[in-house]
Amino acid sequence: MTTKIGSTVLGYPRIGPDRELKRALESYWAGRSSADDLRAVAGKIRADSWRFLADAGLDSVPGNTFSYYDQVLDTAVTFGAVPSRYTELGLNPLDTYFAMARGVDSTPPLEMTKWFDTNYHYLVPEISPQERFSLSDRTPVEQFREASEQGVTTRPVLVGPLTFLLLSKPAEGSPDSFTPLDKLDDLLPAYAALLAELKRAGAEWVQLDEPAFAADRTQAELDALREAYRTLGELSDRPALLVAGYFGDLGDALDVLADSPVEALGVDLVTSPSTIDKLPGLTGLRNKSVVAGLVDGRNIWRTDLDKALTTGATLLGLADEVAIGTSCSLLHVPYDVEAEAQIDPQVKSWLAFAAQKVREVVVLGRALREGRGAVADALAEAAAAVADRAAADRIRNGEVQTRLRALRPADSRRNDYAQRQKAQEEALQLPPLPTTTIGSFPQTTDVRKARAALRNGTIDAATYKQRMRDEIQRVIERQEELGLDVLVHGEPERNDMVQYFSELMDGFVSTHKGWVQSYGSRCVRPPILFGDVSRPNPMTVEWATYAQKLTDKPVKGMLTGPVTILAWSFVRDDQPLADTAKQVALAIRDEVHDLEAAGIRVVQVDEPALRELLPLRAVQQKHYLDWAVESFRLATSGVTDTTQIHTHLCYSEFGDVINAIVALEADVTSIEAARSRMEVLSDLNAVGFAKGVGPGVYDIHSPRVPETEEVTSLLRAALEAVPAQRLWVNPDCGLKTRGYAEVNTALKNVISATAAVRPTL
Ligand code: GLN
Ligand code: ZN
Repeated sequence: MTTKIGSTVLGYPRIGPDRELKRALESYWAGRSSADDLRAVAGKIRADSWRFLADAGLDSVPGNTFSYYDQVLDTAVTFGAVPSRYTELGLNPLDTYFAMARGVDSTPPLEMTKWFDTNYHYLVPEISPQERFSLSDRTPVEQFREASEQGVTTRPVLVGPLTFLLLSKPAEGSPDSFTPLDKLDDLLPAYAALLAELKRAGAEWVQLDEPAFAADRTQAELDALREAYRTLGELSDRPALLVAGYFGDLGDALDVLADSPVEALGVDLVTSPSTIDKLPGLTGLRNKSVVAGLVDGRNIWRTDLDKALTTGATLLGLADEVAIGTSCSLLHVPYDVEAEAQIDPQVKSWLAFAAQKVREVVVLGRALREGRGAVADALAEAAAAVADRAAADRIRNGEVQTRLRALRPADSRRNDYAQRQKAQEEALQLPPLPTTTIGSFPQTTDVRKARAALRNGTIDAATYKQRMRDEIQRVIERQEELGLDVLVHGEPERNDMVQYFSELMDGFVSTHKGWVQSYGSRCVRPPILFGDVSRPNPMTVEWATYAQKLTDKPVKGMLTGPVTILAWSFVRDDQPLADTAKQVALAIRDEVHDLEAAGIRVVQVDEPALRELLPLRAVQQKHYLDWAVESFRLATSGVTDTTQIHTHLCYSEFGDVINAIVALEADVTSIEAARSRMEVLSDLNAVGFAKGVGPGVYDIHSPRVPETEEVTSLLRAALEAVPAQRLWVNPDCGLKTRGYAEVNTALKNVISATAAVRPTL
């Protein structure tokens, strides 16, 4: 008889409460500390987490949730899927691992991409038809033992075999017909070997994560899921298996897993509450445990425990055990709200970060087993916080709601493009192939120091403002010298393109230590959008107009779009996201209007995250794209024809969002294109895109400086696809992360290339 799961979480943050792992990694990479130093930091993070999770009262503590970089990369290494270009480097195992994650000199890293619809990024394994999987690295077993020695029996968490292969890509040179999933039968024995070793080490349970089934899957993929879990389930020498599917509705995979010979199923009842209605029909669950994911692993609000408990109770009797869990790993939320000393106390009382969510799970588990009375105080306190939030005046702004109700379709429509184009041509008088940049110029040490000094109080606001003005002046002079046509102020005053705006709008709070891992050692600190959003004062007008006074060339105002602001924040969960998006759009719209009124003739509204919020399932995508496009248009309409609206997207693989990009109706769209050599332009032509376009001719993601001839040839390639009247010349993205040494030469070459091409038009 296996022990029951009880209360658990599907995973835990691992960067360290003070980002200890980030610092240890970066110091190791820089050669400032040894591998042993790094291991010591990692060991302490693991030990502290296990101890905390066990002491907090979880019945089952997840293990193997630590990673030096990424859990998908870990899985590849565990099963020996290491491309030969890395093994040939002859490095030790740790450095081989980091070479895959970050690359070394001549060897680029694995590709990195987003983990489903979160802001976490994983490394994409490369699988060849000849791949020979084997249990090559025993970290999951070692960490199980390490925890056991510290008195905590963990439930090792592994990326499931289907999700692992579905997230992988075919190695270069594989035949077109090959997909990594073809290798499932070769991979399963390696999983079996690991399961056997974990069992021998004393593991009672192992968790296999299969979030890939929250997205649309083919029948063949569902069949593979069935086969795989039949094979793993029928192994005699293994721990009990918990298969966790999260980030959405599992669709047909739910039936497949319910019928499979595994012992437990984890379902995400936060993202997909309707799953609850499907569970009674699944007779296969009767002899299983169901881990009811009732505590949101991706957002930071306190759980409505009463409601969660009622939901949990409806499951009793449907399964052998109803265990309480989080909807997904807590990797996606910060560690501990108690570490926030400066956050507004009322808003703080509404929040639950990872540590608080662990306690919520424990309370729910006890309430379900022992009755509400056993945890009456905790339930009452939670109910009070939830009620306080729902009733709080500060989450509502009557004016914003009135404006929202009064919106009509005409508010998000501009006059015809032909008319706008003509008006803008006359007003702006730009040369053919106008040159511009994406917004930010290199953030120098001085700029960063000034910001830190303002924060620490070592300089006052007036001094700070003067320093920023000086920087803007330098950036404008530089652009004049280079001969760019549409200038920018350079964004020196911005810490981050979302945080900057969130700090100036009502309805948001910022955290001080609310870091969440984005990839590797990189963390972000998303603002918290808690109430109706509005813009009490102009946010960028002073900087933009200051810059405009210094030049006769048009200065482009620079804003972040509503979708991107939502995508990179923790958002409220008490109203549809579409409504929140419209509120943010209205705030941005006000800013666009103020910029126009102040004499700014070109305004760029960046939407690099448009693709990121795309729902995993096709049936939900249209609704999303409709409101996403509508909110961008709401933000950018209502200006005169002469005001030119730009947008910027950081990528060129548009996939399912390509029609939405057309629908944004921006006068000029700048995109990443240098790496794919302008291929994107024919994709845009194919869907009827016929407005201004600035395909990046300078890849800012690399320190490499493009030669003039190279840019010339990119421009000629672009002119094959786009008429000269529509073509703009710009880098791929903002220059913030680059140094002036590269940027100066690169922009000079971009200008020379443009000058070389113009006479041939
Ligand atoms: N305007 C921003 C910048 O140049 C755009 C950044 C982005 O697209 N991620 O930095
Ligand atoms: Zn960009």
